Amino acid sequence: PLTIGVLALQGAYDAHARVLASLGATPKLIRLPAELDGLDGLIIPGGESTTMLKSLERDGFYEALEAFVHTTPTFGTCAGAILLASDVANSTQRSFAALDMTVERNAYGRQNDSKILHEPSALPGGPLEMVFIRAPRISRAGAGLEVLATRDGDPTLVRAGHLLAATFHPELGHDTRVHQLFLDLVRQKKNE
Ligand code: GLN
Repeated sequence: PLTIGVLALQGAYDAHARVLASLGATPKLIRLPAELDGLDGLIIPGGESTTMLKSLERDGFYEALEAFVHTTPTFGTCAGAILLASDVANSTQRSFAALDMTVERNAYGRQNDSKILHEPSALPGGPLEMVFIRAPRISRAGAGLEVLATRDGDPTLVRAGHLLAATFHPELGHDTRVHQLFLDLVRQKKNE
């Protein structure tokens, strides 16, 4: 089975671990930079990207994770997607610049803080359930990004090379297709 790390500094990491296990992968909670060694892939969960950044800025964790995401399959959800972006707005903050996109944090305003949508997507099997919580908006997606789902015309699920990012929380819904897509990507990269 594939060993998939879940960054477990803060946020919705337990739910990701449960979904991964239900799909036959071996989840491993990651709290130290050395624990990144030997993983087949990694999920950076949703939560608060500013809080995660604070925890990462010790023991060389930020630099270790930055190097990791540039070479190894990584799936960033919500706050995790913010960390993978090349440009972050509202407010500007440090990020790994692994995906060529601009994200605007907390972009949907207070009345739309949380929302569940079912929208058509590029994934087979009908409308995709998307759980948004204080979600960022991908306001610019570089030409190299493949857009797999949208909300009001803005990308919500994007893929480029070994990376996948979602502005929603696939681990909190009932739809496991996005995690399955990530595991397929990890397996494909492993066999290349
Ligand atoms: N608002 C959070 C941030 O800016 C992201 C929200 C989430 O991950 N659900 O980091």
